[in-house]
Amino acid sequence: MCGRPVSGRVDKKFCDDHCRSNFNNKARSRAAAEIRLVNSILRHNRRVLNSMVMDDDETYALRSSMDERGFNFNFYTQQQTLDDGNIVMLCYDYAWRHIDEIRVKVMRWRTELTEAF
Ligand SMILES: [Zn+2]
Repeated sequence: MCGRPVSGRVDKKFCDDHCRSNFNNKARSRAAAEIRLVNSILRHNRRVLNSMVMDDDETYALRSSMDERGFNFNFYTQQQTLDDGNIVMLCYDYAWRHIDEIRVKVMRWRTELTEAF
C-alpha cells in the first residue's frame, strides 16, 4: 500500500504492521470525516425545518426560500411513500415534500401519518 515492495503471500497487501495500521487509520479518519459532513448537513436541514414549523403545525414554504437558508434537498434520513402515492422525505422528526415546482410542505412527523400529507 505504501509503494514499498511486499514479500510473502501473493495476497499480502502491507509490507509490515506499521504500514497496515497506517492504512487502517487513514481509512477510519476518512470515514469519520464523511460521516461528520453528512451529519452536519442533516443537522442543518433539521434546524431549518424546526424553525419553520411550530409544534404540530404544518406549513408551506417556497423552495427558493429554503434554498436561501442553505437547506439541502438531497439529504434526508428516510423516504416514505404515502397511501396516496405522494413521496415524503423525512429529516429525523420532520417531514417535507414537494407540492409543485416552487412550493414545499413541511410538518413535524408522526409515525401514524401515512396519508394526507
Ligand atoms: Zn507498506
